[in-house]
Amino acid sequence: RTSVHRLTSGQVVVDLQTAVKELVENALDAGATSVDITFRDSGVEAIEVKDNGKGIDEGDWEGIALKHHTSKLASFADLAAVQTLGFRGEALSSLCGVATLSMVTSTAATAPKGTTLSFTSAGACVPQKKVARERGTTVKVERLFEHLPVRRKELVKNAQRELGKALALLQAYALVNTGVRFEARNVTKGKTLVQLKTTASTSLRTAFSYIFSPKDLPSLLDLDLTIEVPTEKSVMKRLEDAADESTVIHVKGLISKPSTGHGRTAGNRQFFFINGRPFQPAKARRLRVAKAVNEVYKSFNANQFPCVVADFQLAPDAYDVNVSPDKRTIFLHSEGNLLAALKQELSRFFDPQQA
Ligand code: ADP
Ligand code: MG
Repeated sequence: RTSVHRLTSGQVVVDLQTAVKELVENALDAGATSVDITFRDSGVEAIEVKDNGKGIDEGDWEGIALKHHTSKLASFADLAAVQTLGFRGEALSSLCGVATLSMVTSTAATAPKGTTLSFTSAGACVPQKKVARERGTTVKVERLFEHLPVRRKELVKNAQRELGKALALLQAYALVNTGVRFEARNVTKGKTLVQLKTTASTSLRTAFSYIFSPKDLPSLLDLDLTIEVPTEKSVMKRLEDAADESTVIHVKGLISKPSTGHGRTAGNRQFFFINGRPFQPAKARRLRVAKAVNEVYKSFNANQFPCVVADFQLAPDAYDVNVSPDKRTIFLHSEGNLLAALKQELSRFFDPQQA
């Protein structure tokens, strides 16, 4: 039983980045305005995510790390319109299977007191002791993949690269969640290195300037596109209520002015989102969108790449995040049509004279 649990858990939490992603999404779902991420020994020893969200009520402790326990989805019908980042109730359960999970949590009713909770590998909760804690939750994941020797070895060997991937994802969350303060640090051999620090701000521009150089800001345009994407017939048939033959998508964010290229280095400053949910870096689907944007940009500024932050705002039934256990794959209906329409509108955005 336990080993089966460990194997299936390994499909939800596949690496350091997905572990961090699940913890940060939970903090955001809890309404946090401040999220502190601490990597110990680049995450190899532990990852801690501390938030000031609503905390977890005592009545929920028992269930939270059990498989498919979620407080976020009341019924199956909610799935199409899910607003929270999590909804499958698999992350904590999986983390128990692949690491040692513990928490401190406190709610408005209990603050300034909280309780430490530890969990068995099967997800059973063991309340420990009362401690001082303001409202919020700190989740600690120790020795990721400790019982999966091959994965563990990979993690240890590639610790720096894995940390880099996790930090890139945190940059994405920090950009798109402008109202939330983020801080990430790595503690190695007693030395603390701050890796990312933002303050809750009101604009994407400000958030961008916390993460990247403020000197870049004047060279960025506010991206604001409205694109109409014809819906493919096959998709129409599957969506019972699809009365419209097209979907309207807003694309909002920032993009380099065509006159100011950023060479190849801009590649690590390209962030794409669907309704505030980051596309995973280096994933095929994300790359197709990036490729479309880069192609258009290059037609105005040869051999240069833009910085880009783009959130695709679309109806929940126009995409599907529920296709893989780790929610990495976001499936866009009518993707070909979307990319074509995107290219056209982006060209027009850069050159309004264009018909
Ligand atoms: P999901 O996010 O899909 O609901 P998870 O396994 O990630 O499933 O979390 C299980 C439940 O634990 C959540 O539904 C939520 O009620 C609770 N939870 C987890 N992390 C936090 C947090 N940081 N603050 C408050 N509640 C949390
Ligand atoms: Mg979750």
